[in-house]
Amino acid sequence: MTREALLRTPAPFTPPCAYCDRETAAPVVVGAGDWPNGCRFVRYACPACASEHGAGPSPEDEIT
Ligand SMILES: [Zn+2]
Repeated sequence: MTREALLRTPAPFTPPCAYCDRETAAPVVVGAGDWPNGCRFVRYACPACASEHGAGPSPEDEIT
């Protein structure tokens, strides 16, 4: 049985940080765009990395 089942609440939105790859409960959007195939993507960072790297998309950032 999971914690969510016990509490009857949905799992929190915890996307992986684009910089340190750890899941964060307080994601900050640091980039977004569209793939050539039409899929939309959004990059999130944890608050620590967002303050370190700065929020907002950067042309020098690459998804590796
Ligand atoms: Zn991070």
